[in-house]
Amino acid sequence: MPNRQHAGQAKAATAVVVGGGIAGLVSARELALQGIDVTVFEASGHCGGCVRRHDVAGFLLDAGAESFATRSKAVSDLAEELGLGDELVQPDPAGAWLQLPESARPLPKSGILGIPADPMEPGVIAAIGRAAALRAAADKVLPLGNLLGKDRLSLGELVRTRMGHSVLERLVTPVAAGVYSADPDVLDVDSVAPGLRASVASHGSLQAAVGAMRKAAPAGSAVAGINGGMGRLTEALLADLAQRGVSVRTKARVSAVSKHDGEWRVESAAGTFQAQGLVIAADGGSAVDLLAPGLPGFEGLRPEPGPAVALVTLVLDEPELDAHPRGTGLLVAAGADRIRAKALTHATAKWPWLAAQTGPGTHVLRLSYGRATGKPESARGEDFTGWADEALYRQALADATELMGVPVADADILGWKVVRWTAALPSATVGHRDRVAAVRELAGTWERLQLAGAWLAGTGLVAVVTDARARSRQLAAELAAPPS
Ligand SMILES: Cc1cc2nc3c(=O)[nH]c(=O)nc-3n(C[C@H](O)[C@H](O)[C@H](O)COP(=O)(O)OP(=O)(O)OC[C@H]3O[C@@H](n4cnc5c(N)ncnc54)[C@H](O)[C@@H]3O)c2cc1C
Repeated sequence: MPNRQHAGQAKAATAVVVGGGIAGLVSARELALQGIDVTVFEASGHCGGCVRRHDVAGFLLDAGAESFATRSKAVSDLAEELGLGDELVQPDPAGAWLQLPESARPLPKSGILGIPADPMEPGVIAAIGRAAALRAAADKVLPLGNLLGKDRLSLGELVRTRMGHSVLERLVTPVAAGVYSADPDVLDVDSVAPGLRASVASHGSLQAAVGAMRKAAPAGSAVAGINGGMGRLTEALLADLAQRGVSVRTKARVSAVSKHDGEWRVESAAGTFQAQGLVIAADGGSAVDLLAPGLPGFEGLRPEPGPAVALVTLVLDEPELDAHPRGTGLLVAAGADRIRAKALTHATAKWPWLAAQTGPGTHVLRLSYGRATGKPESARGEDFTGWADEALYRQALADATELMGVPVADADILGWKVVRWTAALPSATVGHRDRVAAVRELAGTWERLQLAGAWLAGTGLVAVVTDARARSRQLAAELAAPPS
């Protein structure tokens, strides 16, 4: 059902979307649903951004995101609308493990971001020791003081103050590294755990707040996936857009946007286009590059670059891994110095659909490298941008051996690939929410402009999809109204 108007019909409003990641594709679909004639410009040769599949040793595997949070129905609703409703799958319930400096053990399951709802739970005591668990339990009786009234509060400061150093280092730091590629001391608590601060205030302790939030969460696994990989979401979105007559141009980096006589002029590698509405759904740095020439205030709102992340995927023959020795994978705690990876996903243990494809004895391991520490990167050895692919591959073999407790050698490998992400994981650093509000306010001075994407919405598909839908609906409403 192409979106073009027919003779006698009013001319459709037009919009351009800059960026063909999930935020851009969802925005384009939402605008097309409102009858708007949409063109998407994507800088690279393929759409999807962090959500796409690649071929490793003959298997189509996710190159970036491989799941979505189930705390909201944003992604599952979208998948259903795209005909993927029957393809939604749950991960294996075994759950992840923690690699501590001295040993590996299952990650306690009762927490949020690694913060335990019950510090005296046996799994927590096993991970941090009895003395540290007792210190963490004191959170229940310690006065809140003025901690929650602080203008800016990091996840690290909240956890350290309420539950002590061990909970932070041994439980929360590895989870934050796995999810945000960042140290809890740089993460804004209000951005990564919205509502937690208020919940601590109303429940009187961090553990009670975490317990209440866990109780309020939907039953079942905290994440879900798509049979065949999350990349299918991008493929389904592209098929849907094609059906709606949306034009998607790849290798079409947008180099400038400006407004003339109430219309946007968009200059791209594919030529210059005019449109009435504009969504910028690029990463934060690229968005500021486009907006600052017209609104100089944007230069001061340029986001800090997020951590450079490298993902090494190994496909290997190793029957010993059939026993899933470390659940669905491991998060690596600080102090496990022999290991350079921050997390390992045993994808064939986590996703039964993938194990069915590879068959017994063949496995997929994904190891991720790089995190924002807020300290000089080289001092902690957390920046892998200078590493050649081959060096990262060798490191991944050593790390996989150490983490899985099973020798993983070059001779076992059927195929491997390194994918690097530079601007894909914006850091939700302390003060993030204020900066987002300032960006939104400044962008609001231009009519018929909306900004979408993870740098403002927050990392993760739920946040990105929810925000992109809301922003593009707002733009559609603006386009339906006469310009002021
Ligand atoms: C390795 C990895 C694993 C992840 N795992 C998960 C997960 O399991 N679950 C989860 O929920 N989230 C996960 N995430 C996060 C999630 O994937 C992202 O938050 C989300 O996909 C971001 O979407 P986006 O559209 O905002 O940005 P992006 O995906 O970064 O897309 C932005 C697009 O804009 C394009 N662009 C930039 N500048 C221009 C320009 N000037 N002109 C035209 N195009 C431009 C880029 O090429 C890119 O395609 C992961 C992220 C990474 C990197």
